[in-house]
Amino acid sequence: MRAILLGPPGAGKGTQAETIVNEFSIPHISTGDIFRKNIKEGTALGKKAMEYMDQGKLVPDELTVELVKNRLLEDDCKKGFLLDGFPRTLNQADALEDALKSMGQSLDYVINIRVRKELLVERAVGRRICKDCGQTYHMSFNKPSKEGVCDNCGGELLQRKDDTKETVENRINVYQEQTEPLIDYYTKKGIIVNIDGEKPIAQVSKDIIAELRK
Ligand code: ADP
Ligand code: ADP
Ligand code: ZN
Repeated sequence: MRAILLGPPGAGKGTQAETIVNEFSIPHISTGDIFRKNIKEGTALGKKAMEYMDQGKLVPDELTVELVKNRLLEDDCKKGFLLDGFPRTLNQADALEDALKSMGQSLDYVINIRVRKELLVERAVGRRICKDCGQTYHMSFNKPSKEGVCDNCGGELLQRKDDTKETVENRINVYQEQTEPLIDYYTKKGIIVNIDGEKPIAQVSKDIIAELRK
């Protein structure tokens, strides 16, 4: 299965990606995670990406598209993939289509997770990430058993630097301007699956898997 997760910041893409990739045994490709890994490791790409991410702006397409194209050429993507957070612009969507075409592939599904804007800030501001394994939690909606500690690995839970109210609001505006047009783009191609992302996490997972199994 070749699929994309679409949705505003805080919609639950990363959370749902985990369940989907386990269910279908495909790699999870999150451009945000790749950029954060580069920042942590202090690479040249990380340094450039950080300037944009800290302001809630998109990293330029020149840096993002090549990264994803190269990732899709890796062996584990032969069985399919789940892209999370890419594409985010029409230009990225066109580039993805061209890249897949040149590999003789195409997309099966675009999973569009819908959550009203009013709920997104609270979701993102309450998000906590394990500094060691990357597991995502929420202070109110998806708490770890012990505050501040990862259930998986005992790692410390941190807040992303771009998960402040102000930056999240910027990111939501950027989403509406640059990414939302993709809903139309993929609806016209007939591959969009709309999911109500306001239900509890486990129910959203069930709804997505049911749609993908249809
Ligand atoms: P995205 O990858 O779309 O930015 P995440 O999956 O990181 O979103 O989720 C954002 C925050 O909201 C996280 O703290 C997560 O635990 C929480 N969350 C995700 N899905 C739900 C849901 N259905 N209901 C309540 N909280 C959720
Ligand atoms: P969220 O799901 O909460 O929006 P992500 O982890 O997907 O967060 O992305 C974090 C940041 O990384 C974005 O705000 C943006 O700066 C950068 N980024 C991630 N994916 C892309 C992309 N496809 N194009 C441009 N910038 C991106
Ligand atoms: Zn952990």
